[in-house]
Amino acid sequence: MTETRRSRVEQDHAERGARGAHRAAFVCTHILQTLRDGRPRGFLWSRDEDGAVNAYCALCDAELRRAGAEWDEAVTAFADVKLISEDEAASAAMINGVVDLRR
Ligand SMILES: [Zn+2]
Repeated sequence: MTETRRSRVEQDHAERGARGAHRAAFVCTHILQTLRDGRPRGFLWSRDEDGAVNAYCALCDAELRRAGAEWDEAVTAFADVKLISEDEAASAAMINGVVDLRR
């Protein structure tokens, strides 16, 4: 690997890291709990139209199914969605065995 190439890789890595730290992710309050206690609770995710990760746990998924896949007031209140960084979301994903949030 040449010097130039190596520094470019490092630069890419640094940029990706910075982007992840500043990029918004929306997760349910239970995933936030997972970040605090390290216990997996499920991680169902997608990216919204802005490219931000939106994720919720298995409990929320069950609530959502009960509501007929409708984010009604009860489900929304249950999920209590929080804004975190994409890096934090990636950590929670990892705890749940979801390793790749790119896409
Ligand atoms: Zn949840």
